Amino acid sequence: MLVVMNSHATEEQIHAVCKHIESLGLKPHPMPGSLRTAIGITGNKGAIDLGILESLPGVVECIPVSKPYKLVSRDTKQEDSILRIPTPSGDVIVGGDHIALVAGPCAVETEEQCLAIAERLKKSGVRLFRGGAYKPRTSPYSFQGLGEEGLKILSKVRATHGFGIVTEAIDSESLDLVEEYADVIQIGARNMQNFSLLKRAGRARKPVLLKRGMSATLDEFLMAAEYVLSEGNYNVVLCERGVRTFSDFSRNTLDLAVVPAVKKRSHLPIFVDPSHGTGKRHKVLPLSRAAVAVGADGLLIEVHHEPDKALSDGMQSLLPEEFIALAGEMRQIAAVLHRTIN
Ligand code: PEP
Ligand code: MN
Repeated sequence: MLVVMNSHATEEQIHAVCKHIESLGLKPHPMPGSLRTAIGITGNKGAIDLGILESLPGVVECIPVSKPYKLVSRDTKQEDSILRIPTPSGDVIVGGDHIALVAGPCAVETEEQCLAIAERLKKSGVRLFRGGAYKPRTSPYSFQGLGEEGLKILSKVRATHGFGIVTEAIDSESLDLVEEYADVIQIGARNMQNFSLLKRAGRARKPVLLKRGMSATLDEFLMAAEYVLSEGNYNVVLCERGVRTFSDFSRNTLDLAVVPAVKKRSHLPIFVDPSHGTGKRHKVLPLSRAAVAVGADGLLIEVHHEPDKALSDGMQSLLPEEFIALAGEMRQIAAVLHRTIN
């Protein structure tokens, strides 16, 4: 159910509607828009008895939401959500006319490695640094990440170079720490339907980057985001990272068609990860071009200064100079689309 307020509704009227929704044992989610505020309602098992809701001052109408997701839907918020990610060098803006680049190694390996990559990445103008301190690996014998020590290294990168930090949480314990150290909490493909982790991320005070599960349908992807929003965290960025198909020439099949499909259904920004989406270095630039052209709000790209020695995903990691060239090209493509890269 969506309660649509009129464009002149006052803060008090919005507050009174929220209080009334709470008195029914339900949760209100006011979503301010440029024209009007809509209030999403969650927590109901079946149809909501409207009672006096429709007659409260400032209410225009109550619309039943037929889609399984509500808060992520464009029905609830017509305009694109624009997120501000605070970093030591000012906010990075995501969505609308703004495209963000995120780059760094698959895994945090050592302080020297991260600082060497960060130093080289500065020349590209990228402002968000990514690296995994907790690595969800297919084999228990593969490098699992440095854990909190890795988060401390990322803090050093942050303090030394002014980058905002994006890093993955794999369970609720790591999420507690990631929330403390990082600027954006990444939830990986393997955890897209870890519902308790999604709920915990929904209670976090930091933005969430939610990657698409490798076999997730569009509805499942949006429902996973709905878990986060339904707990009160509206700062969610989706990320397409490829799905498994019969196609066998790439690590995954990067589903770029999902970008306009998401944009039609949801106000949330969506990034594309051509590194995991292809698994091969030489495919990252062409798929990045396509991703920006198709409307992605950001790119997540793995970069390593010594990819042959990388502890994970060296084959798909760009060299820093390759990323610098990529960033330059992306700025040109973005300009054609009247968008800017920050
Ligand atoms: C990653 O971004 O490092 C990662 C593990 O990606 P995914 O969850 O998409 O496999
Ligand atoms: Mn990786």
